Parts: sequence; C-alpha cells; structure tokens
Amino acid sequence: MRLDIVTIFPEYLEPLNVSLVGKARARGQLDVRIHDLREWTHDKHHTVDDTPYGGGPGMVMKPEPWGEALDEILASGDGRPVMVVPTPSGAPFTQQLAVELSEAPWLVFTPARYEGIDRRVIEEYGDRLDVREVSIGDYVLAGGEAPVLVMVEAIARLLPGVLGNAASHQDDSFAPGAMADLLEGPVYTKPPEWRGRTIPEVLLSGHHGKIARWRRDEAFRRTDRNRPDLIERADPAAFDKKDREI
Ligand code: SAM
Repeated sequence: MRLDIVTIFPEYLEPLNVSLVGKARARGQLDVRIHDLREWTHDKHHTVDDTPYGGGPGMVMKPEPWGEALDEILASGDGRPVMVVPTPSGAPFTQQLAVELSEAPWLVFTPARYEGIDRRVIEEYGDRLDVREVSIGDYVLAGGEAPVLVMVEAIARLLPGVLGNAASHQDDSFAPGAMADLLEGPVYTKPPEWRGRTIPEVLLSGHHGKIARWRRDEAFRRTDRNRPDLIERADPAAFDKKDREI
C-alpha cells in the first residue's frame, strides 16, 4: 500500500518510522511518502495561509500550494488514490472505515493546520477522486498530523502480513465477526499471582468453550458499563440468551 502525506510539519510524522508501521515500511509492505507542503510555495516566506473571506479569527490554508502538491503526487502514481482529509467536521473514523481504507492500494492524507483548507481544494479533488472527510473524535486538535498517525496505525495493522498473528485483530474491540458490537474484555499474562491478585480460574482450565463464554460475558459487561450505546444500536439478534441474562 502506498501512503502520501502532505503537511507543513513533516517532523510530526516521525513516529511512522517506529514500531509496527516502521517495520511494515522496512519490509516494503507500506510505501510512506511524506511531503512538505511549503515546497509548493513560491514566495520568500513559503506562505501557506491567508485571512478568511468573510472575516473572523484564524487563518485558512491557501488552495494554490495544495493544488500543486496534489497534482504532482497524483501524476507520480498509477490509478487514483483515496484522499483522506482529516477534519473535526468529517465522518467518524471507525474500525469499519479503517477496514475499508486498508483495502485501497493508495491513500493520500491532507492534514491541515489553522482553520483548515480552502473548501475549493476539497471540491476540486472530490470531482476526480474518492475524497473522505474524516474526524477521529468530537474534539478539536491544532492540526491533522496526530489524526493521520492514528488512522495510519489503525489501517496498517489490518494489512496482510503486518501483524505477527493475523488473528490478533479479529478479536479486537469493534472487529467484525463473533464479537462484533462488543468491546474486548480484560486480558492477563504471567505471573499467575501479582501483588496478591490472581487471574480468573477459568483461564487456567484449558476448556476452550468455557473460556470463550467467559470472554464473551466479560466483553458484554465491559461494553454495557463503558459503551451502552453500542449495545443499544446493535442488532438484538447479535446477542444470545446468556448475553441477555447479564
Ligand atoms: N475550524 C475547524 C473546525 O472547527 O472544524 C478546526 C480546525 S483545527 C484547529 C485544524 C486542523 O486540525 C483541521 O483542519 C484538521 O486537519 C485537524 N483536526 C483537528 N481536530 C481533528 C479531529 N477531531 N479529527 C480530524 N482532524 C482534526
């Protein structure tokens, strides 16, 4: 998968060199190209922002550098990328969207600063590309680089061969399948006793059916406690009789 990221803070994206994403890059599973938007400016100060039409506080990112940058990036590859525009006014970034984006061969991210990018840029590329305006949550950050780090990590771990054990993301919270609509329950490792705290007996039983039931019950309890909205909006058929007793 190829990822292009256009930013005025390339150094903000250095975490993409470490851990899972860094390893995926080193193995050639991810081709990440980070571009400095200011390289497509032509004035002495490398200006990327200007005052908003209609007045008001803050600055808006100028369309010209974005247009030149995106045209050059689009011309450098085959096919059409999906353009991902981080913005608090976008559709929520969910595991389902991460799965969908992980199936695209090429993504271009446009993290903004200030009050965002001149709207005409989104319209211009929306005419040619699949443009997704995406929010990582109901809060406002100073820039789109942290949302890009969040999205890239969520997408990269879904790519074939990136996680050591492909099954690990299948049991995750929000993953489609048997545990869909439920958050993952608690997890434990060795030692069996730590500071007087033991682990649930059933996990030592070796009884796969009982362990699966316990995991499901714990997932249900945690979801009910932390995210009752997930249970309310799920299809009632997703829950069995034992779930409903909890
Ligand atoms: N004036 C904008 C608004 O109220 O929607 C906020 C702009 S914010 C200060 C600057 C940039 O940070 C945004 O254009 C976007 O790239 C990024 N950003 C901030 N919060 C975000 C969020 N929750 N999800 C995705 N991107 C976000």
